[in-house]
Amino acid sequence: MSEVKSGFSIERQGLELRFRSVSLASREWLAPGYVRVRLQGADLAGFDSRGSDDHMRLFFAAAPTSSVEELRAAPSREYTPLAWGEDWLDVEFAVHGDEGVGAPWAASAPLGSFVGVGGPRGSAVITGAPGAWLLAGDETAIPAIRRFATLIPEGTPARIVIEVLSAEHEVAIDAPVEVEWLHRGDAPAGSALITFLDGLGEADAVGDDPFCFIAAEQSIVKPGRALLARWGVDVAKAVVKGYWKRGETEYHAPH
Ligand SMILES: Cc1cc2nc3c(=O)[nH]c(=O)nc-3n(C[C@H](O)[C@H](O)[C@H](O)COP(=O)(O)OP(=O)(O)OC[C@H]3O[C@@H](n4cnc5c(N)ncnc54)[C@H](O)[C@@H]3O)c2cc1C
Repeated sequence: MSEVKSGFSIERQGLELRFRSVSLASREWLAPGYVRVRLQGADLAGFDSRGSDDHMRLFFAAAPTSSVEELRAAPSREYTPLAWGEDWLDVEFAVHGDEGVGAPWAASAPLGSFVGVGGPRGSAVITGAPGAWLLAGDETAIPAIRRFATLIPEGTPARIVIEVLSAEHEVAIDAPVEVEWLHRGDAPAGSALITFLDGLGEADAVGDDPFCFIAAEQSIVKPGRALLARWGVDVAKAVVKGYWKRGETEYHAPH
């Protein structure tokens, strides 16, 4: 075991849970099957998200709702707040086909459509400076990876590895290191990332005292945790999470 004293921790911070009514202001396709939308509304005043992998719940009600109860009864899914201002909030969606609620809404809801925003209700904030970074995920993790990448100081050892369908599906990411793209092609979602993680041995550790974020289809959790064990990384100082589950609607990742 390493004797290195850790230079960072992950601090849990609670946020007051609020529900906001906003509307779809614009849509920009960044790649086939990957769209950024801007939500807009005065209700967004005071919106806050302190952790890079925070999640909020978007409520896809067919029409504006008049109470929180009505809003909460609408179908909802979890997303990462990417960027925001006084009256706007940007969210990126993996559009994985015609199934589901969130992906079709992001792809084709008319501009002006109503949507509810609940949360985030809490954040996991990195305090201090990790000695190194590993950020790995699929399309659904790109927003969180974008946010984490902005925290990596120039010169700190880091690897950012993202699985997408093909080269055509890569998106520009602002980061101090080059993103390593994996292409799954016709293979099941997550398989290229699993092969990559399984191939990392003890000697491939990204650096001392790393922060590791690994999020993709649920089957990533086992190989992700195995990697932490090989690298001697404390699970309390890493995030390994299923962001969705094949064949399951509205999957709730265990925390
Ligand atoms: C903490 C957290 C943060 C997240 N942040 C984001 C984010 O910022 N952007 C984002 O796009 N997603 C994000 N997700 C993932 C998102 O919540 C799920 O992908 C969700 O299932 C999408 O809802 P849906 O209505 O489109 O599909 P659902 O109705 O939930 O599912 C319908 C079918 O589609 C499948 N499916 C769901 N997602 C995918 C996918 N990505 N690829 C292929 N098949 C899929 C399901 O297995 C199911 O068979 C996040 C998840 C978590 C837990």
